[in-house]
Amino acid sequence: MQKLLTPEEIAVGAGADGATHRLPSPRVFAGRAERLRQLAAGHAMHDFLLFAARLADAQQNALDHHRPASRPDPADLARCRRHGMPPLDAHGADLPAGWADVLATLTAAVVPHAPAGLQNAIAGLPDFPARRLDALARAILRAEEDLSNPVELALAPLIGASLQVLWTARALALQPADLPAGFEGGQCPACGSPPVASIVRIGDAGHGVRYAACSLCACEWHVTRIKCVPCQNTRGIAYQSLEGAAGTLHPAVKAETCPDCHASLKIVSMEKDPLVDAFADDLATLALDMLVDDSGFHRAGRSLFLFTP
Ligand code: FE
Ligand code: FE
Repeated sequence: MQKLLTPEEIAVGAGADGATHRLPSPRVFAGRAERLRQLAAGHAMHDFLLFAARLADAQQNALDHHRPASRPDPADLARCRRHGMPPLDAHGADLPAGWADVLATLTAAVVPHAPAGLQNAIAGLPDFPARRLDALARAILRAEEDLSNPVELALAPLIGASLQVLWTARALALQPADLPAGFEGGQCPACGSPPVASIVRIGDAGHGVRYAACSLCACEWHVTRIKCVPCQNTRGIAYQSLEGAAGTLHPAVKAETCPDCHASLKIVSMEKDPLVDAFADDLATLALDMLVDDSGFHRAGRSLFLFTP
């Protein structure tokens, strides 16, 4: 009889297959919008998910009309690869020229559908100091935003959505070989940002291969299953899901919890539902974050559509 593998043994043995990065699809935001609409139907957060879908539509439109980003200098790419550094580093980067134009485009597209608080914030945008907007964008890129001002809090998802468009455009100019190989860290190998969640895809051999999905540039990097993405621990990894009266709600989404660093990162599984999108399915399962938080784990995924004071 074959011996059952422990989670630790599975974790050590996995990763030999499909250990590659995935660059974003040029239609990433359209796919996300479609999934958000599907998830919105009958959902308690229907209006919010529908607004997120409209924002994703606007992102796709902005990406389609954005002039293609240029590929970084080959010498810089080689240096980044050698040292395992992200070539599109979000932390120390200058803001791309014209980033506020993307913000203006997204804002104009979603303002008729925006909730009242956001409409008021958008109405005040013309008087908002450009320097402050730049500072907010830089803080979001560094994941260091300290938002207590309600107007800034309301604008943050629009700023984040603009930065996603710009960094996705830059990622689309890369080739898979531009990214550091053998990388399995807690941050995106293309831009250095944290993941929004992880996704199990169906690999070439027909079994699930897990990737972490970048919160900013939509690149995905291979991560071993049953292993904490933020701290790489493989011991005591456990899973939580949303249970309803009629069984598991959102069966394609689980939260992976780590007893070492107390982080929790979601896994959305194409094995359970081929239409999942890491970003959209994360947004539609915020109730799972609350459940996980109640049991003492903090959310490691970062969604640029969600900001809390
Ligand atoms: Fe990235
Ligand atoms: Fe951990």
